[in-house]
Amino acid sequence: MMRQFELVERVKAYDPAADEGSINRAYVFAMKAHGSQRRASGDPYFSHPVEVAGILAAMKLDAASIVTGLLHDTVEDTLATLEQIEAVFGKDIARLVDGVTKLSRIELQSDQSKQAENFRKLVLAMSEDIRVLLVKLADRLHNMRTLRFIKSQDKRRRIARETMEIYAPLAERIGMHEMKDELEDLAFAELHPDARESIIQRLAFLREQGGDLVGRVTDELGALLTEQGVQVEVSGREKSPYSIWRKMQRKNVAFEQLADIMAFRVVVGSADDCYHALGIIHSRYPVVPGRFKDYLSTPKPNGYRSLHTGVIGPERQRIEVQIRTGEMHEVNELGVAAHWTYKHGTGSTEGPQYRWLRELLDILEHASNPEEFLEHTKLEMFQDQVFCFTPKGDLIALPRGATPVDFAYAVHSEVGDHCVGAKINGRIMPLRTLLQNGDQVDIITSKAQTPSPTWERFVVTGKARARIRRFIRTQQRDQYVEMGRSLVQRAFRAEGHDVQEKQLEATLRGFNVASAEDLMAAVGEGLHTAREVLLAVHPQTVEARDKVVPLRRARTKPAKPGDSGIPIRGLIPGMAVHYAGCCHPLPGDRIVGIVTTGKGVTIHTIDCETLESFAETPERWVDVSWESATAEAANHTGRINVILANEPGSLGNLTTIIGKNQGNISNLKITSRSTDFFEMLIDIEVQDVKHLTNIIAALRTNPAVNSVERARA
Ligand code: MN
Repeated sequence: MMRQFELVERVKAYDPAADEGSINRAYVFAMKAHGSQRRASGDPYFSHPVEVAGILAAMKLDAASIVTGLLHDTVEDTLATLEQIEAVFGKDIARLVDGVTKLSRIELQSDQSKQAENFRKLVLAMSEDIRVLLVKLADRLHNMRTLRFIKSQDKRRRIARETMEIYAPLAERIGMHEMKDELEDLAFAELHPDARESIIQRLAFLREQGGDLVGRVTDELGALLTEQGVQVEVSGREKSPYSIWRKMQRKNVAFEQLADIMAFRVVVGSADDCYHALGIIHSRYPVVPGRFKDYLSTPKPNGYRSLHTGVIGPERQRIEVQIRTGEMHEVNELGVAAHWTYKHGTGSTEGPQYRWLRELLDILEHASNPEEFLEHTKLEMFQDQVFCFTPKGDLIALPRGATPVDFAYAVHSEVGDHCVGAKINGRIMPLRTLLQNGDQVDIITSKAQTPSPTWERFVVTGKARARIRRFIRTQQRDQYVEMGRSLVQRAFRAEGHDVQEKQLEATLRGFNVASAEDLMAAVGEGLHTAREVLLAVHPQTVEARDKVVPLRRARTKPAKPGDSGIPIRGLIPGMAVHYAGCCHPLPGDRIVGIVTTGKGVTIHTIDCETLESFAETPERWVDVSWESATAEAANHTGRINVILANEPGSLGNLTTIIGKNQGNISNLKITSRSTDFFEMLIDIEVQDVKHLTNIIAALRTNPAVNSVERARA
C-alpha cells in the first residue's frame, strides 16, 4: 500500500503548490474511518481509496480530486458522515464526496431500470462537476483491477458488463483513452476469457514468427522522418486484444496475420509538422484507401486531435499511423482530465467534452423513462461520427447513419419539429438520406409540420428520437382518452347510467390513476375495461358484474329449457352453453359442441384448432347448429386481431370504421407495440359472422390497417 508521504510526494512532484495539509488529513481520516474493514482480496479496505487516489495522482489531478478519492467510500461504508467531512474539508470536498457516494449506492442494483436510473444520476452529478466522474472512473478502474477476488461469478460479470457498456464509453466520451483501454481489457478478460486468451496466443505466435516486427517498423519510420528533417518520437504497439476482437466481430474477418493490428504513433513538435510527416509517409509507402482521417482540422467531439492514415508499411504489412503533437497527445490520452490538472484547475465547463454532456442532459429531460435514456446514450456512445455543416458553416457532429432529421434536431428542437425537407449540398434530398462527411445541410421548415412517427424509424440520435417519441406520446394519449371516453359512455348507457365526472373521481384510487382523464386513457389503451369502470361506479349493477368476462376466457351463459335466448339447435334442454374463448363462434359459423363433464357444452367453430385435442374422444362431440331466428336477435362477441400502423389518428380511424358498420367495441387490448405497429385484440358485438366479415373488409380498405383477421386461439 502506498504510504502517506509517498502519495503527497507524487502530487507535489507535478503540483508543488498542492494543499499538502488536506491530503494528509484525508489520508488519516479515511484510514481511521475504514479501520479494520477488509476487501474481498483480504487486503485492508483502506488500500482501495489509497489506490484510487494514486490513479488520480497519475492523471495529475488537483488536490481536491485526490482528497475526494481518499474519502470516496467513507460516507457509504463507514460511520463517517457528510457533515463531518464538510466540517473538516469544506463545502467543495463534501459536495464531491456526496456526488460519488450517491452513485455507488445505486450501483448495487442489478436490473435494467435501476442501472439506467444509476446512469441518469451519474450524468446529473457529473454535469455539476466532472471531477465526480473522474473519481468514479478511478474507483471503477481499481475495482476492475481487483475484480478477480470477488467470489460470485454473477457479480463479477455484472460489474464487467456495466464497465463495458457504461464506464468505458464514458471514459472515451470525455477523451480518456488510456482509461478506456484498460477498463475494456479488464472487462473483456472477465466476459470472454477464452476469446481473449486465444487472441493473446495468436499474437505471441505471430510475434515469434515475424521477430520484433513492431521494433523494426518503429525504427524505420523514425529514421525516415528524421532523415527528412522532422523531429519525431515514434512508438509502436500491437492493438489491444479487445480492439482486435471487436474488429473481428465488426468486419467479420478472420485473424490471419499481423496486418492491421499494429498501430504506430508519431509525435512531432507542431501542427505543421504533422502534415509534413504525413506527406513524407504517403510519398514513401502505398496508401491504403479510405483510411485517412483528419481529426486535426476537425477534432472528434471528445476533443481528440490527430491525423490517422493507413499504409502498406516497411515490412509489407498494413499498419495504422497516428500523427499528433505532444500537447495533443496529452489531451488525447487524458481527455477532460487534462483540463483538470493542477495547471488549469479552474473547473472550466467549456470545450467539446462538455457540449456532449449538455446534450445528454437535454435528452435526460425528455426521455420518458431511464431505460429509454440508456438506450439512446449507449447507442450513441458506440457510434462513429460524421461531420456536417450548416449553411453558415457551423460544424454539426452526428453519429454515423444520421439523417437530415437528426441534423435538424441537432441544430434546434424547433427546427427538428418543423422540418419538411432538406437541401444537401444544394440539392433537395429525402429526409431519410444518410449524411456523409462534409455535407452542407440546409433544413427547410414549415410551421404546419409536426414530427412524424415514421421519422423514428430512421433517426439515430437520442435527441431526435426523444423529441419525436415525446410528441407521439402526447398525441397518442389524446387518442386513447377519446377512445376510452367513448367506450365508457357506451358501457354506462347500456345500463341506463350517465357518466359523471364526480363519480369517476371517487374510483381513481382503485384504478391507480391520478385523474379521470388518465382513467379514460387507460381504458382506451386497454389497461382497464369499460366494464370495470362501470362496476366501480355502480357496483349494484348486478347485470354488469355478470357480463364482466376477462379476455381470453370462455363466455358463459346459463341455459334454461325453452329459453329463447339460446340460439343453438341440437342441445339437450337444461345444458349450460359456453362459447369458446379460443375461436369466438358467431351465428353463421359452422359449429360443433364439446361436452365438458359438469360444465355443459362448449361451442367451437368447426375449424378451431382446439378441437384437435378432442380427436380421441368422439363421444364428447355434439352436432349443433344455429337457431337462425333467435340467433339474429341476440348480439354475439366476435374477436379480431388487428395490426395497425403506429401513426397519429390511426386508432381513431379504426374505431370510426367499426362504428359506421354498426359494430360495438366491447373490449380492446393492445398485445404488442413497436415503433412501427400496434397489434391488438378487439372484441366487437355483432349479429353474426357476416356482420363481422363486413367490418373486417371495411377495415382492410384503410391504409393504416396492416392486417386484420378473426382471432383464433
Ligand atoms: Mn470505491
